[in-house]
Amino acid sequence: MAGPEGDRLLIVNMTDQTSSYEPFPEEWKLLGGRGLSAKIMTRDCDPTCDPLGPDNVLVMAPGVLSGTTAPTSGRISIGGKSPLTNGIKEANAGGNPGQHLMKLNIRAVVVKGQPADADARYGLRIDEGEVSVVDASDYKGMLNYACCEKLLANESKSASVISIGPAGELRLAGASVACTDQDQERRPARHAARGGLGAVMGSKGLKWVLVDPGKAKTRQPASKEFNKLNKSYSKTYLDGPQMFKHGTSSVVPLANMLNTFVYKNRTEGQSPDVDTLDGARIVESFEERGGGMHNCMTGCIVKCSNIVHDKDGNYKTSALEFETLTLLGASCAIKTFDEVAELDRLCDEVGLDTIEAGAAIAILMDSGGMEWGDSGAAIALLKEVAEGTELGKMIGNGAVATGKGRGHKRVPHGRGQAIPAWDPRPLKATGVTYAAGPMGADHTAGLVVNPGLTEDQLAQASQECQIVNMVCDSSGFCQFISPSIDLMKDYYTLFYGEDVTREQLGDQGWECLSDEWSFNTAAGWKDEDNGLSDCLVNEGIGPDNAMKFDVSLDVINASKVRFEPREELYTAAASG
Ligand code: SF4
Repeated sequence: MAGPEGDRLLIVNMTDQTSSYEPFPEEWKLLGGRGLSAKIMTRDCDPTCDPLGPDNVLVMAPGVLSGTTAPTSGRISIGGKSPLTNGIKEANAGGNPGQHLMKLNIRAVVVKGQPADADARYGLRIDEGEVSVVDASDYKGMLNYACCEKLLANESKSASVISIGPAGELRLAGASVACTDQDQERRPARHAARGGLGAVMGSKGLKWVLVDPGKAKTRQPASKEFNKLNKSYSKTYLDGPQMFKHGTSSVVPLANMLNTFVYKNRTEGQSPDVDTLDGARIVESFEERGGGMHNCMTGCIVKCSNIVHDKDGNYKTSALEFETLTLLGASCAIKTFDEVAELDRLCDEVGLDTIEAGAAIAILMDSGGMEWGDSGAAIALLKEVAEGTELGKMIGNGAVATGKGRGHKRVPHGRGQAIPAWDPRPLKATGVTYAAGPMGADHTAGLVVNPGLTEDQLAQASQECQIVNMVCDSSGFCQFISPSIDLMKDYYTLFYGEDVTREQLGDQGWECLSDEWSFNTAAGWKDEDNGLSDCLVNEGIGPDNAMKFDVSLDVINASKVRFEPREELYTAAASG
């Protein structure tokens, strides 16, 4: 199978601050993003290593179609061993760094080692393919927005940045990795948030990566039919319901109806503040305050990202997502989207996962350490994370660390990672993903929004969704354009000019999941431990508090044994 000439892996050694290129292995041609990260981790990383030690590996891998003209396809995966789950982790982000790396034929940046001086800070410059590791001590401790503004002030308009905030520098397990978006301001508002990979980047002394593709061209497909597929796929999408045209925050009323707009640390499935937290209020604010919907990366036709302005009409944050409104809003009994917007901006500045931080704050409130709904105290607390106070470090290390620090038992998590907004009690197949999937509690790994499944349907529904989402997160497509395996195999066929089959991609998705499970087993995960926190098993929500995560371990573990592929596997849309 032919492919773009000159594809390569960029290997960066942070122990001696050197770098080199390796040819990209031919057999990995159809792998990008999460799948490629899993292969590199399996090849290069000892699963028993300390996640914050020199032997962990940080992978930055764009999807296969990043850097091409395929619509909404420029995502990047950040991978490594997670300090939260102690297993393999991938988190996915938009913005333009993924496209820029691929235009330079860099299929992944693989960061290894660790500087001897834990206080040293470095930047990695990739200028039109020329690579240098430079001193970045001037950026030490900077918040993400100021860091990117300073860095980009004298750079060409074509550059983009991957960075961490103070939380990553402090190696806190809830730290995220930020990517700059495609707008003129190039704000670090797109976060590979889950699993604490910002802490891994911080442990390597790497504050930022600057990628300037200069005049590098868009990646060219082997077949001209590729452009025809772009047109027909875009038309089909734009003529359709465009479910996310007002952003993910528009699902708030639906989630509340399904008992998955959780309130007060998940003691209830519905929030009395659903109206003031509904994304419709954000859309209404555009007329008076400005802001609006935009695309976070070049070539995205979904434009799900809302730019939220404050009451004075000044930029506050983007995007304010459903997950953030649930975890930092409803679950903390914080009432309005304006308060959550402030908290979201702070998380982006400090470099924190809004899900993990929201869950930690809700646990602090539930344990009596803060009043429910006190957004002022929550704001002060996030500032403490950046300052590295003891309380700040506890929150920055996530939900489980906060439960431990407070001696509080109601800590909803899966494999040490806070449960996302989508609750496993009404959505049991999603719960199976959280309980047995290699990513721990991460909805992007396999979200099934179907409360009507019977017990014997749960494992297969979760498994199929995990395979489709794996293929999607390897392709570069955003989950919000909802590609199917059939669509992705058509794209790969036209890009490489040789037949790629639906079965090939389905098998590849399963193989990558198996790589991740094998890594986790070697890291110490055991199948008998697959499951979720007691509070999700024993405490009900919904009518008569009847909804519990009462799925048996046999059903949970059945999701790890491959089912005979059904037609739906190839035609179902990825969901995030
Ligand atoms: S759909 Fe939304 S998150 Fe996905 S690339 Fe577009 S703007 Fe970014």
